[in-house]
Amino acid sequence: MTIELHGKNALVTGASRGIGRAIALELAALGARTALVARSSSLLESLAKEINDKNSGDAIYKSLDIEKESFALELAKWLKAEGFHVDVLVNNAGIYSTDYISLEHADGWEVSDPGNDDLWKRTMAVNLNAPYILAKVFAPAMIERKWGRIINISSISGQKAEAYGTAYSASKFGLIGVTQSLALELARHGITVNSVCPGWVETDMAQEQINDPEWCRLNDINPEESLDIARLSVPQMRLIQPDEVAGLVGYLCSDRAKGITGQAINICGGLSIS
Ligand code: NAP
Repeated sequence: MTIELHGKNALVTGASRGIGRAIALELAALGARTALVARSSSLLESLAKEINDKNSGDAIYKSLDIEKESFALELAKWLKAEGFHVDVLVNNAGIYSTDYISLEHADGWEVSDPGNDDLWKRTMAVNLNAPYILAKVFAPAMIERKWGRIINISSISGQKAEAYGTAYSASKFGLIGVTQSLALELARHGITVNSVCPGWVETDMAQEQINDPEWCRLNDINPEESLDIARLSVPQMRLIQPDEVAGLVGYLCSDRAKGITGQAINICGGLSIS
């Protein structure tokens, strides 16, 4: 099966590392011109160089913090100046933090409003608000061109919640809601909108969660065994590799996948059914 993205432009958020990096490499290899966004300028620069060396020069990059309210305007201005219209939007950037009910407030007088909680706000800003804002910014031009792909990287935790990750799970459930609603709205315009839901993927995010002493303590896991416990929780007894997720994203971008929209597609080694 040949998937070709020649002549298409793909914007990938969170492209500096992990899954986003693999997606950017995959889409570039399929022929897309790529725009790479994350905070780390040096990592983006070296990825753009790698893509440009392999594909003779088409990746552009910008360091942006998508948690900041002004990011979308800044991004849109930059892409306009670069003559880069977005055909494919991959909302991949994401953050995870362990969060739990603290017994410090057991007397009930220090009630914290989740809306004012820093961790909750940051998680929602990056994992949920930014993807929705970017879809609103870039879908109108996709409608005009009658073709588009929006791919939101959610999670297995967006379908089946995990303990001690309420903000993360809520943001990823919400992202599937955004996906379904936009898929319905954009279906008649040749635009598909899908969520990809990975299980454990071997990246910094997974390593940080597995190595987090707080997460291990809350889950009653010996930190020395936590990687094995995570691995063995997966029926395939392994962590997924970033390029496997990227392959699925590449397929969803292709015309072969034009009938797939509004879906939440798991790539988890069987974790969702275990
Ligand atoms: P990662 O290795 O931690 O990479 C996260 C990416 O997001 C980095 O490129 C990071 O770049 C970027 N990012 C984070 N905050 C940002 C911000 N405020 N502004 C701009 N960019 C930001 O994570 P990953 O494992 O590749 O995860 C990618 C996506 O897959 C996330 O949405 C995650 O929730 C989802 N996912 C991962 C797993 C897993 O097991 N790894 C499982 C399910 C779902 P900078 O630090 O340079 O800004």
